[in-house]
Amino acid sequence: MKIPGKPSYGVCPLCETAFPQSQLQAPLTSEPPASRRQIIKAIRAEHPAWTNRDGACQVCWESFRGVVRVLDFVKKFKAAGLRHSEPKDEAP
Ligand SMILES: [Zn+2]
Repeated sequence: MKIPGKPSYGVCPLCETAFPQSQLQAPLTSEPPASRRQIIKAIRAEHPAWTNRDGACQVCWESFRGVVRVLDFVKKFKAAGLRHSEPKDEAP
């Protein structure tokens, strides 16, 4: 959908909010390539049809960056051979 004389708008496929097209690509282009790959993978895990050409708004992008950080932490945690323990197991 194009509005003459206005910036072209797109809809963030992740939260279905309308943004100018440029704002849907900005988070992807400003992300360093290494973390961008990770974030794209995380988005695809939840939205299999999503491609980076669809773009994402800053809010969604940031939230998936948060997901990547948590997954990364869990991976390191498991790699260290540590198991999840319930708080009740902790010494008083
Ligand atoms: Zn969004």
